[in-house]
This record gives sequence, structure tokens and C-alpha cells, in this order.
Amino acid sequence: MAVSSIKSKILIFAVLATLIPSAGLGLLSFWQNETMIADNVTHQLRVLAGDTRRELEFWLKERVDGLRTLSNSNTVINGIAQHNDTADGDNALQMLPHYLRLVEQKLDALLQLTVLDASGKQVASSAQTGAVVSLSAPWPEDAATKGVVIDAPHWDSSAHTATFSLAVPVLSLDDKIIGALVAVVDLNSVAPTLKHRSDISAGYVVLMDRAGRPLLDTLARSSELSPLESRTVQRLIQHQGQPIVYERPLTGEVLGLADTAGTLPLLVVAERDRDEIYQAWTAFRNLFLSLLGGLTLLVALIGWGMGRSIVTPLERLTGAADRVAAGDLEIALPVTRRDEIGRLTRVFNQMTEHLRHSHAQVEAANQALQQQNQLLERLSITDNLTGLYNRKKLDDILTDQLARYERHRHPFAVLLLDIDHFKALNDSYGHLAGDEVLKSVAHILTQSIRSVDYAARYGGEEFVIVLPETNTATARDLAERICGAIRDKCCQFEGQSLAVTLSIGVAGIRDSDKNIEAIIARADEVLYAAKHAGRNRVHCAL
Ligand code: GH3
Ligand code: MG
Ligand code: MG
Repeated sequence: MAVSSIKSKILIFAVLATLIPSAGLGLLSFWQNETMIADNVTHQLRVLAGDTRRELEFWLKERVDGLRTLSNSNTVINGIAQHNDTADGDNALQMLPHYLRLVEQKLDALLQLTVLDASGKQVASSAQTGAVVSLSAPWPEDAATKGVVIDAPHWDSSAHTATFSLAVPVLSLDDKIIGALVAVVDLNSVAPTLKHRSDISAGYVVLMDRAGRPLLDTLARSSELSPLESRTVQRLIQHQGQPIVYERPLTGEVLGLADTAGTLPLLVVAERDRDEIYQAWTAFRNLFLSLLGGLTLLVALIGWGMGRSIVTPLERLTGAADRVAAGDLEIALPVTRRDEIGRLTRVFNQMTEHLRHSHAQVEAANQALQQQNQLLERLSITDNLTGLYNRKKLDDILTDQLARYERHRHPFAVLLLDIDHFKALNDSYGHLAGDEVLKSVAHILTQSIRSVDYAARYGGEEFVIVLPETNTATARDLAERICGAIRDKCCQFEGQSLAVTLSIGVAGIRDSDKNIEAIIARADEVLYAAKHAGRNRVHCAL
């Protein structure tokens, strides 16, 4: 669990360490780039719109100057004068339409020339048909103050072009406004002047009326362009000089900037496709994201590899530690690295070796202790001199046999043996001879009994033999055999034969025996009787 978390932590760290600075720097760079592009485009659109507006004004001024020159011509002045005063016999009035047609052909961009009198009534026109031109109401005042009246342009669907009216006042010789010379100007004729603008990658210009209707554009698409929403037009006017983003129907999202400075009754809007502006930026962004993704993947792979190079040996060490904890000390890990992990593995091996050594020492100490314990245990139940069970152990054996009898009715018998005239033997041959006799008797007793029987030194020169699963008769037989064996075989001391006999009292367990003393007492009783009867014999409690 913890191990795998180290791996994932390294992985997460590696990925974050790559992503955070790269993405941060990338975002900063994109943000700067975007700001720079926006500033650049704003500047270009502003220059484009401003230049176009100035060129338009210059073009218009040329048209106005031409009209003004024409308005000063005698033919026009006289024509109006004659129109006002029919008594004059001159034929200037008849000449005027013809004159206007001639001039109209000379001056380019003019679709129609019309002369009006001071009240706005038509005096003469170059138009073949009787098309009537009228001026907006305060024209004489406007003409007097501004020297020119320019009407708002409108789309002439029959001519497939936008037109607007341009009027200059006609002054009499004494500087009174006697009428106006009105020209219908074809806006399309300014197109060649603006045309070269369309080559510039900075964008294109759309001339619109105040309602947002496209009248002319430098890409010559005005007939295809749809009018802008009035809300968009309002925003363009409000933010004039600043680019705004809007949807141009059928074209898509554009960045547009309006120039409404000057006297033109037009909106000069410089536009550029938004997608096209950010095309390079978007391509660069996509490349950056791909590179970032690739880099992150690469770093994640390296991180994963590094994590694995740490975790795998750690897992091996953990597995080995588990085996050591389970008691397997026969482990030696290969040290293949020279780094910290290699050092840890080396230390682990040394630790295991040390443990192995300590374990062997502890094992040896344990074994010695066990042997000591066994010895102690044997000594605690053994008589020093004879090697038979001692009195304490005899008590335990008898208690156990009594319990077995009470529980399972398994009978047992007890022989109480006492060497005859031992005191006299001691006295005659010495205490050491007495000890040797005790050892010899013990040896013969051990030889005479079964492996399931018990022989104990009861005290002094008295012995007890416990015979499990044995009735009194069988016990008696054994006692007789022992008696004979002692008589026949015992004993030698320092080369001389000693005549040794013993008396034996035999008692079998009875239901009335409530403790071990009861059966011992019975055996003692018959032993006493055997002594009394002359010794070297067996008496049995029946
Ligand atoms: P009886 O036939 O009536 O049994 O007479 P006895 O002399 O054998 O019995 P008694 O009780 O009078 O004497 C026992 C003697 O055993 C007394 C004691 O000095 C001797 N004795 C007791 N323990 C030892 C021992 O460990 N070594 C030797 N050598 N003698 C012992
Ligand atoms: Mg005795
Ligand atoms: Mg005795």
C-alpha cells in the first residue's frame, strides 16, 4: 500500500513538475501573444479605417470642387436667372439641360446633374427622364454655412450601386443664393481608389449607411453582404476607434472598427475575420498543447520508471523482511546497485547474518539449558547413591497409581523391601561396603522388574517397587524371584563375598485404600511379619 503510494507520488510529482511551469509559461506567452495580436490588429484596423476615410474625404472634396466650379458658370447662373425672370429673351434656360449633360459626361462619378432654384424647384436636369431631385428642408442655410449639402447615401437597386446627393449653392453676382446645383454621385466610382486597400492583409473596409447597410467594400462584395443589426451599428459608433467583435451574417465572426470622424454621412468600418486573425495563434496553441501532452507523457513514463526502480527493490526487501520475521534466516539478497538501495540491501544482509549468528548462539544456549533442566529434573527425582527414584518421586508415582485405580480400577501392587541386618553389615565391613551393597541391591532390583514398573529407595536400606496392572499373586512371585536373586547374587566388596538377604512385604491395592499411606502401611505390616518370621522371605498381605 505504502509502497505503491511512493510510486504514484513520484509519478504525480513528475507530472506536476512538468505541467505547472510549462502550462504557466505557455499561458503567459499565449496571453502576451494574444494581447500583442489584438494591439496589432487594432492598430492596423485603425490605420485602415482612418486612411480610407481620409481618401474618401479627399475624393469627395474633388467632386465638390468640380461642382462648385460648375455652379459659378454663367450658363447655370443665367439659366436660373432666366427661370426666375421669364421676361429675359436669352435662351440660357433652353441650353442648360444640354450643358448639364455635357458636363456630367466630363465629370466622372456623376449620375445626374440638376439645377434647382432657391425654393428647391427644378430648373433643369441632365436626366433624360423627369427624375426629380429634392433637397432636405434646411438646405439653403446648410449651403450658406457649410458651402455644401451632402445627403445620406442610399442603395439604388436599379443601378446596383449606392448613390448620394451632393449640392452646392449657386450664387448670383451679388453673392445671393439663387439656387443649387445638385449632383447624384455614384459611390461605386470611389471603389478603384479604395481598391488597393483590399490587397493589404490588414483587413478590408466596408462603407455602410447609418442603418448598417453595406454600400461598398474593398473586396467588392457589398451586394452579398447583409446589413448589420442596428445594435451592432450602435456599438460600432459608441466604440468608434476601438475594435469590437460581432457576427456578420453569412460571413461569420469578425473584428470591426468604425471611423466616424470627419463630415462623411457614412460609416467607414474596417473589418477582419476573427478566425483568420487567430489562425496562426491557434495553430501554435495546438502545437504547444500537443508538445505539452507528449512531454507530460514522457515525464510520466520516466517518473513511473524511477518509481519502479525504487519500489521494486523495496518490495524485494519487504518480502525478505517478512520471511525473516517468519523465522527464515537463510536469506541473502543480491546487491546489484551502488546507491542508497544497494546500501540498504547490504545492511539488510549484514543484519540477517547477525541475526543468524545470534539465533545459533541462542539455540546452543537453549539446548544447554534444556540439558541442565533435564539433569536437574532427573536429580530432583533420583536417589543419589542408587540411581533409583527417590522418596518424593515415589509419592507421586503412588498418588498417580491410586488415582488410576480409583478412576479405571486398574490394580497395582507394592513391594516393600528391607535388607536384613544391615546395621550389622555396616558395622562389620564399614559404611562404604554398606553403600556398595545398597547399589548392588538397587541394580538387581532394576534388572528384575519390567520397564513399566518403578523401583525407589524408600529410605536407609529400604526400597519400594510399584507394579502397575499387577495383582498380589503376581507381585508375590516377583518378590520371591527378587528375594532369590539377592540371596544368590549379592554381593562383592573388595574381593570378598558378602551374604546379603532381604525381607519383602507385598500388598495389593484395595478399595478401602483412601491414600497411599494405607497400602504402604499394609506392606510394612507384612514386612514386619517377615522379619519376625526369620527374615530372607516374602510375606504377602492377603
Ligand atoms: P533388620 O534386619 O531388623 O532390618 O536390622 P537392620 O540392622 O537391617 O535394621 P536397622 O534399622 O537396625 O539398621 C539400619 C541401618 O542401616 C542403620 C544405618 O546405619 C544403616 N544405614 C542407613 N542408611 C545407610 C546408608 O546410606 N549407607 C550405609 N552404609 N548404611 C546406612
Ligand atoms: Mg530397616
Ligand atoms: Mg534392615
